[in-house]
Amino acid sequence: MKTTVTYDVVIIGGGPAGLSAAISLLQKQELSVLVIEGQAIGDELIGENCPPNTILLLKQLRVAKAFYKGNHAPCPGYASVWGRADVGYNDFIVNPLGPSWRLDRKAFDSMLADEARRLSAQIHWSTQFLDAVKVEKGYALRLRDRIANAEYKVNARFVVDASGANSRFAKAIGISKIIEDRLFASIRIASIAEGKPSKQIQIEAVPEGWWYNAALPDNRIITMMLSEKENIAALQDSQHEGFEAQLANTNFIAERLKKLKLKEHQYYTRPVYSGILPVIEGKDWVAIGDAASSYDPIAAHGIHKGISDGIRVTSKILAFFNGEEELNSFSAFVNERYVNYKKNRDYVYAIEQRWYDAPFWNKRIMNPLEITYANNGYK
Ligand SMILES: Cc1cc2nc3c(=O)[nH]c(=O)nc-3n(C[C@H](O)[C@H](O)[C@H](O)COP(=O)(O)OP(=O)(O)OC[C@H]3O[C@@H](n4cnc5c(N)ncnc54)[C@H](O)[C@@H]3O)c2cc1C
Repeated sequence: MKTTVTYDVVIIGGGPAGLSAAISLLQKQELSVLVIEGQAIGDELIGENCPPNTILLLKQLRVAKAFYKGNHAPCPGYASVWGRADVGYNDFIVNPLGPSWRLDRKAFDSMLADEARRLSAQIHWSTQFLDAVKVEKGYALRLRDRIANAEYKVNARFVVDASGANSRFAKAIGISKIIEDRLFASIRIASIAEGKPSKQIQIEAVPEGWWYNAALPDNRIITMMLSEKENIAALQDSQHEGFEAQLANTNFIAERLKKLKLKEHQYYTRPVYSGILPVIEGKDWVAIGDAASSYDPIAAHGIHKGISDGIRVTSKILAFFNGEEELNSFSAFVNERYVNYKKNRDYVYAIEQRWYDAPFWNKRIMNPLEITYANNGYK
């Protein structure tokens, strides 16, 4: 029988949060670190837009040079039809940290994985975390190698849940996320056969939700609609006619897309949760990134938040291994940040008053937090 290997730290999830945590930890202390990732190298990754200050985090991870050498495209700003019928512009021209970025996500995550491995992290790709049992010194984790279709176990003295919005490890130890808003993203990624896309990210509100359109650095374009479950069936017919029809009904984005000839359309659907774990950390485990708190993509902050958590959590993990106690300061930070995120999200949705009676908008602009925000004098 295979011996069960014990690692100091097992990180569940090889997204921006998990890989950043591996890099940040190994930069500071020699530990045995295993990252478990359910997907295979090269699988499609959705979500590419990150704010200018992401570069500061990449410098902390010492991967900024590799980042600048990569195929990531600067984004000069946003063009949005939101709260009014004409286009508003929000440029990064005066930001001292430069533009925001449209990432080549596969290359970006590979860059982080390469750095984590260079610092001696092991990464088990195509490996699913199944469940965990508390043992005397840490946890016994049951995993499944999806390629060999075989189960195996590893022991972890400390576990990092970086498994994304479904918080798999927290769930396995009996902690369920508080989900307070649930959306669905219907996504189309297409290759550009002819034409030059705008470098700006485009956003357009419609009665059923909102659209997002952005050119990706590898001559592709991502177009997605964020709406509620009720609209998904209409968007998801087998030929994607519903998606195309709703897209054709937009004013601004459809016009921009008409200037391009597209081919090789791929469609995806992803759930999007706004939510937070009621318990984010224990003595020998912690949740980071989307596993701890997940945001509406309107915030465009998920990747930045993941990397930032990966770096910030290092002191807690090192305190555990060095016999010091760090009392829930990570949770306090995540909770406070979540409250701010909700205020900002509610403020952004409240700007759009044109379809007050439409269920999507009515539900969001009636949110009592928006009233708190207004009472605080922000509006
Ligand atoms: C449609 C959509 C568009 C988005 N667009 C943007 C955007 O433009 N900009 C932005 O900043 N954010 C965006 N986000 C949010 C962003 O993708 C996340 O916030 C960010 O990826 C969080 O990083 P993470 O590492 O915490 O989690 P993730 O990136 O979700 O990584 C978690 C990893 O854990 C793995 N995993 C899950 N369960 C298991 C398991 N049981 N076993 C092993 N591995 C497991 C997953 O395969 C995944 O790779 C978007 C989200 C969605 C849904």
